[in-house]
Amino acid sequence: MSFVGKDTSTFSEVFCIVCPLGCRIGVEQGSDGLILRGGCSRGQEYARQEVTSPCRVVTTTVRIRGGEIPRLPVRTSAPFPRERIFELMEFLRTFEVAAPVRRGEVLVEDLLGTGVHLVATRTIRRLEKEGEGSEGA
Ligand code: SF4
Repeated sequence: MSFVGKDTSTFSEVFCIVCPLGCRIGVEQGSDGLILRGGCSRGQEYARQEVTSPCRVVTTTVRIRGGEIPRLPVRTSAPFPRERIFELMEFLRTFEVAAPVRRGEVLVEDLLGTGVHLVATRTIRRLEKEGEGSEGA
C-alpha cells in the first residue's frame, strides 16, 4: 500500500498514482466510514480502494509453444486483487499458449474467479517448421 507521511491507526496518507501530479490524500477512519482529504474524485476513489481492497494491473510473460519467441508478454485486463497476485503468478508459471497469438487476444477469461481476464500484449506468429509454408515459393 502506498502509505507515506503520517501513519497512525486512524490517519494515513495515500500517494496517488492515477496521474503524474502525485497528490497525497489523507485517509482517516471516521465513525461513519472513511474520511478522505485532498485530491480529486478519481484520486479519492483510488485512495479508498488502496485502503479497503488494493489492486494492481499485472504485467508479465507466459510460455508460448511454437512461437517465433519463447515468451509472450501479457497483462491483466483490469487491476487484480493484490492479495491474490502470488496465486496468479503460481497459475501463470505453468500456463502455456500455442502460437499464433494476436495482440489484445483474451487468453484466459475470469482469472481465478476475479472477473479479470488475461490479455496478450504482443502479436506472436507461429514459427514455421522446415517444409511448411513454402508451397509456391
Ligand atoms: S488526486 Fe487527482 S489530480 Fe491528484 S494525482 Fe490523483 S488523479 Fe491526479
